[in-house]
Amino acid sequence: MKARGVLTLLVVSALCAQDKPRTETIGARVARIVAGASKTEVERTVRDLCAFGTRHVLSRNDSEAEGTGAARRYVEARFASLVELSGGRLKVETQQGRVQVAREGMPNEVDVVNVMATLPGTTDASRVYVIGGHYDSRNSDGADGKRAAPGANDDASGTAVALEACRLLCAETFAATIMFCAFDGEEQGLVGSKLCAETLAKTDVVIDGMIGCDIVGNTLGMDGARRDGVVRCFSYGQDGNDGQGRSLARALVHAAHAHSLTPKVQLVFRGDRFGRGGDHRSFHEAGAPAVRLTEPREDYSRQHQDLVERDGKPYGDLPDFVDFAYVAGVARVVAATLCELAAAPRMPVVRTASASRTAYDTEIEFALPPDAADCEFVWRATTAPDWEGVVASKDARMRGDERGRRRALLPGLALDELVVGVRSIGADGAKSRVAIPPDPDRMMRRAR
Ligand SMILES: [Zn+2]
Repeated sequence: MKARGVLTLLVVSALCAQDKPRTETIGARVARIVAGASKTEVERTVRDLCAFGTRHVLSRNDSEAEGTGAARRYVEARFASLVELSGGRLKVETQQGRVQVAREGMPNEVDVVNVMATLPGTTDASRVYVIGGHYDSRNSDGADGKRAAPGANDDASGTAVALEACRLLCAETFAATIMFCAFDGEEQGLVGSKLCAETLAKTDVVIDGMIGCDIVGNTLGMDGARRDGVVRCFSYGQDGNDGQGRSLARALVHAAHAHSLTPKVQLVFRGDRFGRGGDHRSFHEAGAPAVRLTEPREDYSRQHQDLVERDGKPYGDLPDFVDFAYVAGVARVVAATLCELAAAPRMPVVRTASASRTAYDTEIEFALPPDAADCEFVWRATTAPDWEGVVASKDARMRGDERGRRRALLPGLALDELVVGVRSIGADGAKSRVAIPPDPDRMMRRAR
């Protein structure tokens, strides 16, 4: 995919699209959309992908029955089958590149092909949300492109979520653009997602959120306990617990909670599982808010394993071990989050916050995007993982000036031990990510 192609697509769609007046609330809309999530659909995707034997980057490209070429063409055909449902708006394309690999036993360079489907936004098309899983797989030998590597849970499950989210959302219109991706080369050092993230970073699009779904299908832990009520959400925090990734992670918690979805989203304040990585890291490194969803307890006898039996115990990543109802649940959480964020206005820009010197109040100075119908303020203790309280705009003493700058006084909130933020609300009630004031220590260092 050429960078200019994306831009042309986004600009043209923004000019052509007619934004119909919408009376449906975001709550009703999300409920209607997620009700369509299908266990049968995700099961079909996982089983079909596993049937190609292996999807390793070095596997066959010249067959329609086995190997990475067949798998990629299958994913492309599945996305293409949704174009009609989208009213012709969904743009399906492949993105090819020859990329460097630093893995033992692997050639120095490999060809990767990402498959993506883009649903252009109507009024704010340069704001983009990305959802992706990786369709490549591996067995015990990371450089083997011949022997079986079904990769059911890792990561046909994440690819199935991307496809299902696309099926659920593609008939809808949203202010912002959503890209549904199946990445290649994750098992070779995240090379496919890196190609995608770096290509997007060279365009004018702003990635407001990337959700990586990787290993989202096993609910039976190695301890024999079944855990299907939560999905872990890992986020990077190089700017502390209020970094952009954390803001996106909290938006997922909000969506799952506000729309009463299962699994619930469990915040993990670490970029990924200890010492490990995934495609969301490529987007994080390109400067985008990025998170990873993964099941609560992984079974390591499945991942990156040859299909063998040892002491009567089966090894290998087979579809029969995947909990398809859970995968459909993850697709619901993802679709709800993307629907809410892509329907909402952009998040506000916060200039500053200050503590009142006459009472225990906080004043916050910010600007809202023109399409915001309302806003709300949130707060939490500095040590609390997620927002603890909400102040509606009617309860904040608000004033604005002719240049669009607004000030709000939040009574009773003592800023010294709190984090405060504000989010935009659209006419349908959809809420943006939360914007927070710049870090005061950094502002002071800059001023010196
Ligand atoms: Zn994976």
